[in-house]
Amino acid sequence: MGQGLSCGTSDEHGLFTAVQCGDLETVKALLERNPSLIYHSTVYDRQSALHIAAANGQIEVVSMLIDQSVNPDLLNRYKQTPLMLAAMHGKISCVQKLIEAGANILMFDSLNGRTCLHYAAYYGHSDCLKTILSAARTSHVASSWGYARFVNVKDGKGATPLHLASRQRWPECVHILLDNGALVCASTGGYGFPGSSPLHLAARVGSLDCIRELLAWGADRLQRDDSGRIPYSVAFRHKHVACAALLNPSSAEPLVWPSASKFISELNEEAKHLLECALMEANKEREKNILKGTTYSPPSPTNSDNGIDDNISEASDTEVCCICFDQVCTIQVQDCRHQMCAHCVLALCCHKKPNPTTTSSTTPVCPFCRSDIVQLDVIKFEKDDGTSHDVSSSRLRKSRRSRNFSEGSNSFKGLSAVSSFGKMVGRGSGRISAENDHIDKPIILD
Ligand SMILES: [Zn+2]
Ligand SMILES: [Zn+2]
Repeated sequence: MGQGLSCGTSDEHGLFTAVQCGDLETVKALLERNPSLIYHSTVYDRQSALHIAAANGQIEVVSMLIDQSVNPDLLNRYKQTPLMLAAMHGKISCVQKLIEAGANILMFDSLNGRTCLHYAAYYGHSDCLKTILSAARTSHVASSWGYARFVNVKDGKGATPLHLASRQRWPECVHILLDNGALVCASTGGYGFPGSSPLHLAARVGSLDCIRELLAWGADRLQRDDSGRIPYSVAFRHKHVACAALLNPSSAEPLVWPSASKFISELNEEAKHLLECALMEANKEREKNILKGTTYSPPSPTNSDNGIDDNISEASDTEVCCICFDQVCTIQVQDCRHQMCAHCVLALCCHKKPNPTTTSSTTPVCPFCRSDIVQLDVIKFEKDDGTSHDVSSSRLRKSRRSRNFSEGSNSFKGLSAVSSFGKMVGRGSGRISAENDHIDKPIILD
């Protein structure tokens, strides 16, 4: 260095500093004086101004550079793009801007052969993860590569984004990836211990929440890594007692999200959210038995039941579920309009673990009229002021003591004939049952 580069180096340094702290005026002034600076990069890592701006979340500078037609896919020394750095540091606005500017989401760095999706998953930035996934749905990647292939893209050691999110304990990222078609049983090549599944990796670091997500999506507790270990023995060996209890093949199986059912894949966001919450709640209920005797104490009930009891008065506007007589009806079968709670819907759909060898998944039927369940809706309630409001937002839960109120209920209009028929069937079947009975057994109403 230092052979007559004149004022270039100090301007260069000034530019990178200004970019880093988002000093737009200085950046503009420097580039006006010396437009070629825009193509300079740092000496060692070869970071361009765009890399530095993206990594530091300087959205104004990112926008300005893109407006000056800087290539959004510039590479640094490690072949990382500005998009990868933005995803690594969770700079969501920069991720969005770069994608809008046409940044390629399917680039691989030279460090570990990872894409921007790996970065978002590894560092746990679920907002960036979602943005990249939705870009993948609509971009050329989906048509050329295939969306499912992108979601399951492997890095240089065979790790998918799901492996990384599980290993780094990011349950929300794990959930988003599974929801977007990540393969729950994929094995790594050399990453972690060879042949590890996401469940092995979560077991190793003791992430109970990731294990819950993975099991609820059908992860196999008996899958072995290349050394023949099941996730249970990995958790046990690392002294994660609670994780080991859930992973113990002799513990009760959790409910599994019925992703094979056609109507589940077509659920609207609202209904899906409601069912997902019910699934997690039901599984946590089961865990109480499994975790009994381990030193793990579940989070205090004040956390998980937040905002439930204060809604009791509001709950008197609503119908209690005729199957369990415990929860409020939140879901309605589309054509016959029979209603039940989210917990009972799940009990109908996922009491059996889907068998991957048989393609025919039997469609669940409405327990009241035996018609096939084609689609589910969230029940909307009319409020007194005429605005509709859905039950999912308040996550009502009825206390048992109010189970008899429903005869006098009048503010819930419509379908009263249908729901009283439902009640009849519900009672006839003797389903006023012990607590949590409905989540432990399939419902048979014949
Ligand atoms: Zn119910
Ligand atoms: Zn029905």
